Amino acid sequence: MPEGGTTAPQAILQPAGLDELARLLREARGGPGLAPWGAGSQWARWGRVPGAALDLRALPVEPRLSAANLTVTVPACWRLEELDALLAPHGLWYPIDTGDGGAATVGGHLAAATSGIRRTGLGPARDWVLGMRAVLADGREVRIGGEMIKNVAGYNLHRVLVGSLGMLAVLVEATLRIAPRPERHVTLRARFETPAAAWGALSPLRRRASTLVAAEWLRAGDGVEVLLAFEGPARAVDHQAAEAAREIRSAAGLAVPAGGGDGGAAAARGGDMAVYGGEGVTVVEGDAAAVLWDARRERLLSPAALRLRAGVRPSDLPRLWAAVAEVFAGRPWDGIARGYGGVVEIVVPAGGDAAGGDSARGEASRGAGQPGEAAGCAALVLDLRRRAEALGGYLQVRGALPGTVEDLPWTSASPDGHLHRRLKAVFDPAGVLAGAHFLLPEPAEPAAAAAAAAGAATARGIAGEKGGSAGGNL
Ligand SMILES: Cc1cc2nc3c(=O)[nH]c(=O)nc-3n(C[C@H](O)[C@H](O)[C@H](O)COP(=O)(O)OP(=O)(O)OC[C@H]3O[C@@H](n4cnc5c(N)ncnc54)[C@H](O)[C@@H]3O)c2cc1C
Repeated sequence: MPEGGTTAPQAILQPAGLDELARLLREARGGPGLAPWGAGSQWARWGRVPGAALDLRALPVEPRLSAANLTVTVPACWRLEELDALLAPHGLWYPIDTGDGGAATVGGHLAAATSGIRRTGLGPARDWVLGMRAVLADGREVRIGGEMIKNVAGYNLHRVLVGSLGMLAVLVEATLRIAPRPERHVTLRARFETPAAAWGALSPLRRRASTLVAAEWLRAGDGVEVLLAFEGPARAVDHQAAEAAREIRSAAGLAVPAGGGDGGAAAARGGDMAVYGGEGVTVVEGDAAAVLWDARRERLLSPAALRLRAGVRPSDLPRLWAAVAEVFAGRPWDGIARGYGGVVEIVVPAGGDAAGGDSARGEASRGAGQPGEAAGCAALVLDLRRRAEALGGYLQVRGALPGTVEDLPWTSASPDGHLHRRLKAVFDPAGVLAGAHFLLPEPAEPAAAAAAAAGAATARGIAGEKGGSAGGNL
């Protein structure tokens, strides 16, 4: 359930063919707009839905796998778990893990530019797209990019559609790069007393460990628990995970076991889970690693009074994390951060429990969003925004209980907002596609500017825009 509002669109249109899709788009001119609909997860979080949603599941789009070329073309409406079911028997995969168990659709995650937990090692989702087939707002079908790794010369126009949040075109098909499934996955789990200690131990690892694909920080009481995922050839993964464990132990002043390389891992392996990091650092494999990452997902899903995203330069992550801890001190907040990305997702439950052991300290009784807490909630948000901006970063409100943050004075539209508006005007001059939450009106006159600012407050409060960027990129 979203923090505010309903998740269901008033109408769901399910075109049975591209001609019908084109007709629906043309007929929508002058109306409240249509929004392409994937799994609906982003809408559910924003708590705001369009008048009518376009459900693309009835479109006749056939998947095409080219295992030899490591490419696949799939319907945009396919869930990532469906894509995985196609690729797994061939020993292949599309390695973007959007963190929601494969529920996201190909079109939805590309339109929302969610690159998932492996962005650290494998880059953003846009780097995995070779081409797209889309229907423009005027009903014309376009093919952008191609089905080969090296496409024709010219500007990579399909990259414009990644992150466009369904406001420029309806994606009906995407051609993606794929890769061999990794031979080995190992998750290294470490606990640090302070965010500064976590950064100090982890920042050197990234350059040295080529198999390090994901690094997440999770709140653990007053400290930070870190999950590091290593994937790739078995020998490289074992060696690099073991070296990382040794370096972390060394940085933390813990005894480093004698013997180098992955000897400890090899000795301990044998079951589903091998632990060879010793005190303070553990290495987890197989189902046990999957359980850890699932638990991370559950923490993001917990019902919340407030969901925030703050971002800074990666090296400022410890300072940002400390600022979040100060602002929400005594409250049951939870935090999950992209370790090398400088982005923290903050979840403040509605008076309930939070992961990280808060209830044990009685914090749960002071959750945000309880009756009479609206003013306090707004003050917390403003305080955190001030601190994030002082670090050169930003704060987004991704979701909030109604009546808590809508009236906050938000910063003005981003300097590149006029480019976004022009892009929209080129792709969709009639404003048919309604996914444009981050597009604010051009402030023309003082009165219009004031109105735009008020609109900005609402739009940002609900959609969680970031400086005009559509990207999720958690
Ligand atoms: C529990 C949970 C954990 C998550 N963890 C992570 C994480 O760790 N990392 C991460 O990056 N993300 C994460 N996410 C976000 C998730 O990846 C996105 O919500 C998801 O990728 C969006 O896909 P969707 O199919 O639900 O899109 P929807 O919510 O349906 O749509 C998203 C946007 O894309 C547009 N759209 C949808 N389909 C099309 C189309 N065919 N053509 C054009 N526009 C379209 C919509 O109009 C909308 O603007 C998480 C989400 C959940 C629920």
